Amino acid sequence: MSDNKQATVLIVDDQPANIHALAALLKKDYRILTATRGEKALELAANMPPPDLILLDIVMPDMDGHEVCCRLKNGEATKAIPIIFVTALGEEQDEEHGLNLGAADYISKPFSPAIVRARVRNQINLKLRTDRLEQVAMQDGLTQIPNRRHFDQKLREEWARLTRNDQSLSLLMIDIDQFKPYNDHYGHGAGDECLRQVAQALYQVPQRPMDLVARYGGEEFAVVLPETDEEGAEHLAQRLLEAVRALGIEHAYSDVALQVTISIGSATHSPRQLKHDAEALKRSADQALYQAKSQGRNRVGFG
Ligand code: GH3
Ligand code: MG
Ligand code: MG
Repeated sequence: MSDNKQATVLIVDDQPANIHALAALLKKDYRILTATRGEKALELAANMPPPDLILLDIVMPDMDGHEVCCRLKNGEATKAIPIIFVTALGEEQDEEHGLNLGAADYISKPFSPAIVRARVRNQINLKLRTDRLEQVAMQDGLTQIPNRRHFDQKLREEWARLTRNDQSLSLLMIDIDQFKPYNDHYGHGAGDECLRQVAQALYQVPQRPMDLVARYGGEEFAVVLPETDEEGAEHLAQRLLEAVRALGIEHAYSDVALQVTISIGSATHSPRQLKHDAEALKRSADQALYQAKSQGRNRVGFG
């Protein structure tokens, strides 16, 4: 999340008057979401993007705050959201119980406005810093697009999803043509700039939020295309080739073209032709790339 985006706080309390009191304190600095029931809180917390902090009442009818906390901490998409319990139960053992459930902090009612603001600010700052670190860890420093680690995680996730529903998964492996002579003649700095431009051009092509374009390493990139068959993958691959050609980066030392070009290997796991695992899909995309290279480069090969 960027520095200037307003953080979101979800306030959960069965008494609307309590929600209003807290919202009044915080609405100047944060975007506020509210829920008067545990079920509703879980639903709002699971929305994308999730809230950055949850202020959670403990005593509520139907589902109490401890239960809401447990469910949030057990959900993959919600477990990283910090929770502050806000409760009239001032007893030490309740506080201990809440913290053991994974809550970040505790505020007792009646609360002091200054303390509420300070505790909320502390948790939000911590959360935003963690988000930034996580983002940096998943991003390639040179090109600012997802890195190899992000790619590996995405491929694992999509492979797991594939085993649950009967969908095709396609993978494109991309390699810049004759990049060594580019570096040798134009210099490493120009080589880096070329990588940045190619990365950005590739990154712009896929339109669906579930697609992922990553820098795989060196001058290689990879694109994960969930729910995409062979035909869809070929269509996208052609657009990627075109996007890089359209950059028109001069490459006088390539014997493929006058500009920088790429080669692409495309492989698809369809529900009918079972490949064994994600590694097998990667191997077939690699073989397809090798084929595209040996057939003259600046083209798509199929595995
Ligand atoms: P081909 O068409 O067969 O792919 O030929 P190629 O020259 O692209 O292949 P090769 O694998 O021999 O060369 C890759 C070159 O990519 C080697 C290295 O100089 C360059 N390279 C890899 N990573 C970086 C990087 O981060 N920055 C720069 N500037 N160059 C890089
Ligand atoms: Mg290479
Ligand atoms: Mg290359």
